Amino acid sequence: MGPLDSRLPEEVLQNVFGFESFRGQQAEIIDHVLKGGDALVLMPTGGGKSLCYQVPALCRPGVGVVISPLIALMADQVQALNQYGVKAAALNSSLERDEAREVVQAMAQGELDLVYLSPERLSSQGFLDFLGTCPLALFAIDEAHCVSQWGHDFRPEYQKLNILSRMFPQVPRLALTATADEPTRLDMVQGLELMEPRLFISGFDRPNIQYSVKAKLNQRKQLADFLAGRSPRDSGIVYCISRDKVERTAEWLNQLGYKALPYHAGLDKEVRRANQDRFFKEEGIIITATIAFGMGIDKPDVRFVAHLDLPKSLEAYYQETGRAGRDGLPSEAWMVYGLEDVVKQKMFIENSNAAEKQKRIERQKLDALLGFCETVRCRRQVLLEYFGDTCEPCGNCDTCREPVESFDGTEAAQKALSCVYRTGQRFGANHVVDVLLGSDNQRVRDLGHNNLSTWGIGKEHSRNGWRSILRQLTSLGLLSVDVAGHGGLRLGPESRAVLRGEKEIRLRKEVLTPRKSPSSGGS
Ligand code: ADP
Ligand code: ZN
Repeated sequence: MGPLDSRLPEEVLQNVFGFESFRGQQAEIIDHVLKGGDALVLMPTGGGKSLCYQVPALCRPGVGVVISPLIALMADQVQALNQYGVKAAALNSSLERDEAREVVQAMAQGELDLVYLSPERLSSQGFLDFLGTCPLALFAIDEAHCVSQWGHDFRPEYQKLNILSRMFPQVPRLALTATADEPTRLDMVQGLELMEPRLFISGFDRPNIQYSVKAKLNQRKQLADFLAGRSPRDSGIVYCISRDKVERTAEWLNQLGYKALPYHAGLDKEVRRANQDRFFKEEGIIITATIAFGMGIDKPDVRFVAHLDLPKSLEAYYQETGRAGRDGLPSEAWMVYGLEDVVKQKMFIENSNAAEKQKRIERQKLDALLGFCETVRCRRQVLLEYFGDTCEPCGNCDTCREPVESFDGTEAAQKALSCVYRTGQRFGANHVVDVLLGSDNQRVRDLGHNNLSTWGIGKEHSRNGWRSILRQLTSLGLLSVDVAGHGGLRLGPESRAVLRGEKEIRLRKEVLTPRKSPSSGGS
């Protein structure tokens, strides 16, 4: 195909790629780019981002320049394109000098439709000057979230890509990514200096996944109940926070008669491979895993993803639960969480060696996740809104199926906050609840907390009720966790207004499914 032909997108889609029609927002995005506009394209993995730049690159004269940090994947992309008859090549550090020279020559002569570059290439002024001599169709910046310090994929070379906007203001640019939270979005627009970009967010909803989040009461019993309600032929993943817990959970599930296999980075490579293999090939395998299990897992018929511990962020939760139901059939994302998890995650953040700015980011991410856990709204809506996507209340998550009642929790909040204050802002939830309920145990007596004015003022709520209230107050920022000490609860900055009666608090009523045992603790 000659570089000066201008072809219609549909024609390219059908004749070159052999696809019938565009998916989702693809047509709109391509139209926008063909008109010369910049765009920010947010779609989950597998959503069909590539065609959004490949098609317009073939429609417009000149070469489409794709910037990607994943050298290993460039070769695959190029090969796939060549098979479609598209003239594409990659230019990166893995090429021999002769090969690189050939690619550059082909570009200079306008023989290429698409060229894939690593971002480092654009740090070279010589190469940029050379680009200036080539007719350019567009720039596509793949994995654009790498420009942001928010995520874990930050790449300094990406921050230099604003040079493109300065040197080639007339060439349209698309930034593409599967990571879409608000702060990252802002970083991409600002860092890449996109010009009045149109924002395209779509495809994040996974309608066949049913979400539910429950208070962690007796996690083993809860998991056993959950599994008992499913077919023994279902494959699933149970995520745990530590390697040790992964192994203990697998053993315990095996004792219950399930086929459970552990997976974590501390296991032998051979064992990991064997377990993963069985998960792919056999029916009814449950993998208990740390987050090490996930990269490249595209088993289509994973029927459930269970979390026994809190993930790090809503993105992580979305990714991990997204491994369920790739085949589009009904699947479940199930999680139990408790205040101890929040304390653990906060400790992780504070005790890490990360810079203060990074810690602040991680705290905000954790807070967003807690907001999701404690919401009284449709969970799918909360999840999608975090990614900038939207939906109607879904009817297929726990809060839709069993609407959560809320109550005026101002008085409960005042009692809890003053109890935390009177006990010296040093104790964890268990002790605070003991005092609220008026427990007469040894520890309470030793500390003299049975003499406090807040001792026994909370008998109207159950132990689990109070645990839920304390969790919610923590997620609202009214209580904070003393991570420098032993994870005791302290008053947050807003708590004063509540104590003075200047602020009303609405809380969710804990919904406890009756058949579940109300015993606390357990692991
Ligand atoms: P992403 O880059 O967003 O992860 P891809 O661009 O790799 O996703 O697309 C995922 C898969 O969907 C690919 O196999 C691609 O060929 C296919 N695909 C994308 N758009 C269409 C379409 N309009 N019609 C049919 N298949 C499509
Ligand atoms: Zn819902």
